[in-house]
Amino acid sequence: MTDEIVKQFPLLQRQQDGKRLVYLDSAATTQRPQTVLDAVRDFYEQNNANPHRGVYALGERATAAYEDARTEVASFLNAPREEVIFTRNATETLNLIAYSWGLQNLKAGDKVAVTILEHHSNLIPWQQVCRATGAQLIFLYTGPDGLLSDREIEQKITKEVKLVAFTHVSNVLGMVTPVEKITARAHEVGALCVLDCAQSAPHLRLDVAKLGVDFLAFSGHKLYAPLGIGVLWGRKELLEAMPPFLTGGDMIESVREQDATWAPLPEKFEAGTQNAGGAVGLAAAIRWMQGIGFDTIARREQVVYRYAWQALSHVPHVKLYGTPSGEHAGAIAFNVEGAHPHDVASILDADAVCVRAGHHCAQPLLHHLGMTACCRASFAVYNTCADVDALVESLQKVRKWLG
Ligand code: PLP
Repeated sequence: MTDEIVKQFPLLQRQQDGKRLVYLDSAATTQRPQTVLDAVRDFYEQNNANPHRGVYALGERATAAYEDARTEVASFLNAPREEVIFTRNATETLNLIAYSWGLQNLKAGDKVAVTILEHHSNLIPWQQVCRATGAQLIFLYTGPDGLLSDREIEQKITKEVKLVAFTHVSNVLGMVTPVEKITARAHEVGALCVLDCAQSAPHLRLDVAKLGVDFLAFSGHKLYAPLGIGVLWGRKELLEAMPPFLTGGDMIESVREQDATWAPLPEKFEAGTQNAGGAVGLAAAIRWMQGIGFDTIARREQVVYRYAWQALSHVPHVKLYGTPSGEHAGAIAFNVEGAHPHDVASILDADAVCVRAGHHCAQPLLHHLGMTACCRASFAVYNTCADVDALVESLQKVRKWLG
């Protein structure tokens, strides 16, 4: 089964300096299976035209391919299709929500709550919108283990909080946040919830009917789809009440010299020529994941994750961040005592082991955990325990290399 999955990824068949490539940076972006590459190529070879424009047959095929992709994403999220908006990535989605909903609904005296775990993409838009509206940005802090306590949720989410924007899975620690508890508390005080699913979409089943949030964001490229395609899901009544984020072609109903009216959902939020090839690739990626089955994906990834945590915790001088207790998906953060994370990543690269080093676009979290940088090994369904063995073997050389 493992080899059957790995074999489907052309890039994972490549060697680096004669060594097997061990790709452990899927939280940054995943590799793409052949079926996704074929779907994108097929779109450009067979169906390419500007969607929603041409009335000729080819134009209609392009529109159908793009809209069929929306149907696929809607079924992936268990949502109505008109609530699914295509964007460039999770970052654009989160900016869309912040600027379109936030500028219109927030005012001085209101609070926006985020967690200290947030990626900068789910932090800076809220900083900007709070600055513009006079609302206050507040943080739910984790313990040193990366866990959010019930007490923190209860105490911070008060009736002044109008919106809670939080990540489903930390891109640094890989830990899953308590979505149910946060949404229950937020809704109790009348606040809306934005869930950043950039790191959960590749690993966990996302069912908007069950998650109980009001908006959700993810990027295609983190779940085996091409770069440059992302998704916003939002409740219809909220999206309908929001002004467009970007304006221009295709998002209008009618335009006069001095004003315009907006197209209905979802077009209202899709200004300009859209990434139809990316949407087709995203639909293919979702079909590919469904073909394996989300339970199978989760089971396989848990085996590799548990094996990795155990193995890494036995490597001398390696410090792991977070805790293996609780639900976990995709990533492990670590440092090697006495070695800069960039040096560690470079030494691993000499063995064709790819991990990310740096602040992972989560500087406030790293500061909270008392560090400025760390390494991160992150996993996808194509990773195996052999990849972990290669990481561990290479890590054992680090301190020797650095003397
Ligand atoms: N949110 C989280 C938790 C992420 O990990 C990332 C990217 O790593 C993003 C948002 C932003 O994703 P993108 O760069 O695809 O917009």
